[in-house]
Amino acid sequence: MHMYDIVIKNGKIIDGAGNPWFGSEIGIRGDSIVEVSRMPLEGERVVDAKGLVVSPGLIDSHTHSDYGVLRHNIGLNYLKQGVTTVVTGECGGSMYPLVNETGRRAVRRRLITGTKDPSKVSVDWGSLGEWRAKLERMGIGVNHIPLVGHKTVRDQVMGSERGRDLVMPEPEEIEAQREIIRAAMGDGAFGVSLGLSANNIYPEECIEVLQGVKEYGGVFHNHMRSLFYTLRDAVRETIMIVERSGVPGLCCHVYGRKYEGWGKSIEAMRQIQDARDRGVDVVADVYPWPFSACANALALFIGGGSYDERVHGRMEEGLTVESMVEALRGATAWEDMRKELIESWEAENEENERRRKLLWERSRIDAPSTRPIETTPVIAYSKTHPELYRMNFTEVAEAMGMDDWIAALRQVIIDDGGMTYLGTTTTHPEDRKVVISQPWMMFESDSSMVDESPPQPQLKPTHPRGSACTAMILGHYVRELGLLTLEEAVRKMTGLTARWHGIKDRGLIREGMKADVTVFDPATIRHNATYDDPCNWATGVSTVIVNGEIEIEDGEYTGKLAGRVLRLN
Ligand SMILES: [Zn+2]
Ligand SMILES: [Zn+2]
Repeated sequence: MHMYDIVIKNGKIIDGAGNPWFGSEIGIRGDSIVEVSRMPLEGERVVDAKGLVVSPGLIDSHTHSDYGVLRHNIGLNYLKQGVTTVVTGECGGSMYPLVNETGRRAVRRRLITGTKDPSKVSVDWGSLGEWRAKLERMGIGVNHIPLVGHKTVRDQVMGSERGRDLVMPEPEEIEAQREIIRAAMGDGAFGVSLGLSANNIYPEECIEVLQGVKEYGGVFHNHMRSLFYTLRDAVRETIMIVERSGVPGLCCHVYGRKYEGWGKSIEAMRQIQDARDRGVDVVADVYPWPFSACANALALFIGGGSYDERVHGRMEEGLTVESMVEALRGATAWEDMRKELIESWEAENEENERRRKLLWERSRIDAPSTRPIETTPVIAYSKTHPELYRMNFTEVAEAMGMDDWIAALRQVIIDDGGMTYLGTTTTHPEDRKVVISQPWMMFESDSSMVDESPPQPQLKPTHPRGSACTAMILGHYVRELGLLTLEEAVRKMTGLTARWHGIKDRGLIREGMKADVTVFDPATIRHNATYDDPCNWATGVSTVIVNGEIEIEDGEYTGKLAGRVLRLN
């Protein structure tokens, strides 16, 4: 009999292809699954999975882990949920490839956020190949599936000013973008992520630059223009980009958000299914958490430019939560901040309207208009006013018995000492059920890596969904609601995600596959993270094996760093 490095015994195997569970033993040698057998196997180490499910390592289809990995290289939030692989470089932005000062500067700004000693931050890579070498030298806990952020490429070719504007690039700018993308695809990228949310890019440009992906058999992800009332246009646009570029596409975080978006995602599901029925390779993913982005309410009072410039840029200049709360208290500074908020919102509104018009004239895409700020974000967390949960600013003012919503918000922030977090939008629970059930729907955290809880409050808070995606699907949607079978949920987080992205040797429990394996208890797996405690890890996962190394044993991290940056080709 062969002696394996690791043998997993007594578990219910859910193979990731959607088959009903079956009993077998798994023999792992080196980084591979060598045998799956009903005969007893012998191993140097034996994992007893009695009463537990053994599945392929779970895959998170959409993360921003490339931003977090240099500081949090383990990815404990993911490992604790049984995740062995994450897609990175999402929503149009990635840490690679860097070809000039514009790119390096943007990345440096990101990295400096929350760093005690900015002088120690160095950007010493350029290509995706160099990025891979850096991560693998440092050691990473989970595998990465790297996508190239289109805006990262565009800004470097067109300059950060022009790169942010809604202009059709010159032919030589298109070609330059394609060249950078081709080089990254040659370095093993799986495709490109588009970030169309700010109405900054025409679909015609996307179709052109995606030719650099097509040659390599890659895919694209699209953070769509709208998740509100024009969701239908945004989905139609994504389908059109797939058809005209010939590159398979994924609609990211498809939810119809707050009020005017509710019900829209059900229509979006139909659009995607119709497109698939006529042979268009389009899929989607979604995060199970009910709120989107998590921002500190203080960020509203920092005017000028994009969110990144406002928050990261000003933190680079030494701005802190404490200094901002202090400024909010002061009568003179307050008047300035109030003016700043109104003016910057109006300027943004005007700019958005200009772009909407251009977008309609050229591409016949209806993008959403800016809504009044006081009805847009909602309170996701308030340290001292829990009763304001889910309220928009108009409702906050009402609850506080004040006429002026800006003054009410100021009061809340001061009471909270800066720990007032906003979710921009909320989704309807009934919509979520329909969306989550689609057979081609993958699951994402839309978050980054985190190994330990950062001190609170943060100007750029950690979103609890980073520790509550796969665990929430398996605990809440499978066990508590019975919305999906265990086998179907596992398939969507393993076989489907791996196969659609072109990964041939992961996502299944089968001989010859890489040994990414997760053992969990379906009766207890759950998420525990909250806004207050975003790093309260998920529980119920007992063993996680990454490339044949046991990284989680009896629920605890073993210190191993066996992750790799995967290659498409
Ligand atoms: Zn996004
Ligand atoms: Zn994202």
